[in-house]
This record gives sequence, structure tokens and C-alpha cells, in this order.
Amino acid sequence: EARNVSKHFTVRGSLGRSAVVQAVQDATVRLKPGQILALVGESGSGKTTLARLLARFYEPTSGEIALRGEPVAGGGRAARRAYHSDVQLIFQDPFGSLNPLHRVRYNLDRALKLHHPSLDGDARLRRATALLERVSLTPAADYLDKFPHELSGGQRQRVVIARALAVEPKVLLGDEPISMLDVSIRLEMLNLLEKLRAEDGLALLYITHDIASARYLCDDIAVMYAGQMVESGPKEEVIAAPQHPYTKLLIESSPDPERAAGDRDELFEGADELGEPPSLIDPPAGCRFHPRCPFAMTQCRSEAPPVTGLGDGHWARCWLHQHGRAGELARTTHAA
Ligand code: SF4
Repeated sequence: EARNVSKHFTVRGSLGRSAVVQAVQDATVRLKPGQILALVGESGSGKTTLARLLARFYEPTSGEIALRGEPVAGGGRAARRAYHSDVQLIFQDPFGSLNPLHRVRYNLDRALKLHHPSLDGDARLRRATALLERVSLTPAADYLDKFPHELSGGQRQRVVIARALAVEPKVLLGDEPISMLDVSIRLEMLNLLEKLRAEDGLALLYITHDIASARYLCDDIAVMYAGQMVESGPKEEVIAAPQHPYTKLLIESSPDPERAAGDRDELFEGADELGEPPSLIDPPAGCRFHPRCPFAMTQCRSEAPPVTGLGDGHWARCWLHQHGRAGELARTTHAA
């Protein structure tokens, strides 16, 4: 769980002035065993920072990270290693995640040694073989002695997943795990992640800017914009009836073979020209989406909207709900 977590970074500009980047602001997210939650948003929305907070690569500026209901913080290297026995992060770039100087065998063996120190060399080799088979790199003997550069992008990402599974985690955090892969194998990778959830009851946070893959894989969707979570709920509800204008824009902008060409709410015509995501150094006052929002009211420019619960775990952070205007979002909806 991330509980009201914020992460601010201080950066120095070329003139030596420092500024604070509000990369994540007051984010709350909870993953249950066997759940696949998609964290969706544009690049620069804070998704990766939130994943790194959940992986304990960063400590939050405020708020807390919790595992099995217990807050985790500090504790040094040993505590982090224990945490990483439960929570593993898979990066976007499988090539950068593997040591290029070492064969697959070494990359897996190192993780097994660190997290299962009681296993001897033969037992670790048997485990490494089984792990490669689990991620469909068979026969494993053909892959154990390969270097990362001898593998395709999809094979490398499978090795990265096998290495993450070596520690028998309960939670996988996938930061855009398929976005650098060839389109032809993305579906295979999504199916592999679904298989691991089904077999191991893994909880998976699937971070993506691609709402179509989130729709395919996930049970629930959380949407981030400019460092804040703006909507979260069951996938079918969020996609069929988004309750935040930004979610609606994301869905309207996503390719959907079932949606007729031109079938886009005219409110969002030209929305891409309404502006880039805001700077996180000096985000807009009030609702951070207001400069791009076709529904923006005067209040939105000065007052941050509260979270409105909509039942069934669905909520949205938008003033429309407080003013009885949420129905305006339903002008164009699409089946999940
Ligand atoms: Fe748009 Fe206002 Fe809702 Fe923000 S709070 S998304 S500006 S209507």
C-alpha cells in the first residue's frame, strides 16, 4: 500500500537556483493478493516515481508505504532486502536490467544466492532451469549460457521476470514492462503475467500509458495526472463510464477497434492542443487538470477538488461530482 504518499525532489537549475519537483502528491493505492491493478497516465505523470516508492528505491517525503498492513520505513540494507523478497520491480528496459557482462545463468544465480542463501549450487541450477521453463524459455539449457545481447527483447524480459520470480515475491511492480518490446510479442507477455497471477496469486501493479493493454490485463485501473491520482475503480466501470474528464480524454484518445472512426466526444476535439501536461515544479493551482479541462469551472482554478467515493471501490477527484454535474461526462461512453 501507498498511504497518502508524496515524493518531492529538489533540482538545481543552470543558474544555481533550486526548485522542488512535486513528482507524486498524496497518492494512495492498495494492492490485494491476486489483483492486477493498472496505473495509467501520460509520461511524467508520476507513475514511475510511485512504483519506485512502492519498491522502496525512494523513501517518501510524506505518507507511508505498508506491506501486509504494517508500515515499512528505514531499516537499512537488510530490511530493504527482506522487503524485496516480497516486492519486485520489473523495469521497462530489459536490456538495462540485466548485467550484459554475464550469462543468464549468472543473472539468475545471483538473485537466488542473495535471497535463498541456504541453497547449494546444484539446487540453484535446478531452480534457475525451472524458472526459465516457467517463463517459457525452453529448453532452458539453450538459454542458461547465453549473454543478454544474444537474446531478443522479449526473451530478455522473460529472463528479467524469471529473475524477479527467483525470490518468490508476493508483489510484482511492472513499470511499462512491454512498451519496449516488439508489438508482435506484447500479447504473449501480457498472457505470461496473467498466468503468473493465476498460478501464484501474485499481486501485480501494471504501469502503462496504454489503456488498451490495461483493459486487456487488469481488474482495476488507477489514473494518474500530474503527480496525483485522479480516478480509480473496477476496469469495466472506469472504461465504460469514466468519472474524471482526464480519464475520459485518455480513453477517447486510445485506439479502439470497436469505436467508429470519429466517434469522439466533440468536447475533446483539439484537446491535444489544449496544452502539455503541466510542470511539476509549479503545478497549476486548484485542480491540476484545469488548463486542459473542457468542464473547468471558476472553483477548479483555485480549489483542489476532493475525492468523491462512487461505490464499489470507485472514486474520482473532480468538482463535477460535488456540483451534481457528473452526468455531463456520460455524453459519450464505450463498453469495456
Ligand atoms: Fe475539470 Fe474541474 Fe473536474 Fe478538474 S475539478 S477535472 S478542472 S471539472
